[in-house]
Amino acid sequence: MKKIKFNAVDWNYEKKEEWVCPSHQYQSPIDIVNNDTLPMNDDGDIILRYRKKANAIVNTGYCIQGYLNGVASINNRKFEFQQFHFHAKGEHTIDGKDFPLELHLVHQSESGKMAVIAVHFEVGAANSTIDDILSHLDESEFDNHINLLNLVPKNLDYYHYLGSLTTPPLTENVEWYVLIESMTLSEKQLQRMTEIHKDNYRETQDLGARKVLKKVFNQ
Ligand SMILES: [Zn+2]
Repeated sequence: MKKIKFNAVDWNYEKKEEWVCPSHQYQSPIDIVNNDTLPMNDDGDIILRYRKKANAIVNTGYCIQGYLNGVASINNRKFEFQQFHFHAKGEHTIDGKDFPLELHLVHQSESGKMAVIAVHFEVGAANSTIDDILSHLDESEFDNHINLLNLVPKNLDYYHYLGSLTTPPLTENVEWYVLIESMTLSEKQLQRMTEIHKDNYRETQDLGARKVLKKVFNQ
C-alpha cells in the first residue's frame, strides 16, 4: 500500500459563477423530464468489463475519485474506463427530483470521445463497496477486491443526451447515459461521504434545443 496525494486544482465549488463555460448550448447536468424524452431506437447496449481491483482511490480536494482498469462497449463502440467519482448531492435531476449522491463512470474512446454513465443513489440498504472505497481513501497499490459493478444496477435502462463535463473545463460533446434505476447506500454511509465532500455538484443547466432519449431494454 502506498499513500498518495492529489494535486490541487485552480477552481472550487464556492465560486461556481466564475467557472468559464465554452458555450451554453450543451452543458451538464440537466433536469430530465421523463414525459419529454424520445425513445432511443439504436441498439444502445452497454457492456461493462471492469477489473475487480482498484488501482487507487483519491480525495481530489473536490471529490472522491477512483481508478481501475476496464473497458466498455457503449452502443457498439469501444471505450476505455478512465475513473469514477461521486457528487453529493446528485447532479442530474429526474422530473425535478434530486438525489443525495451520484456516481460518474468516465470513459474515453480512442478518438477522444467521452462517455459518462451516471448512477443515482438513494438512502436505503448499505452498499459494502462504498465502505471499501472509503476505507482506502488516498491509497494506491493496496490489496483489494473492489468491484465497481456493485455500484451499478443490473438494469441498465438509461436516459441519453449530449452534454458536457460538470467540472472545469466544462468540455462539451460528452455523451451522457443517466441510468434510470438507482442504487442505495445507508444514511451512515452517506454521512461519511458528505463529511468528506458535500455540495460538490453543479446546478442543472438549460436543455435548450437538445432532446433526451430514453432506452428501455427487454420491452
Ligand atoms: Zn462528475
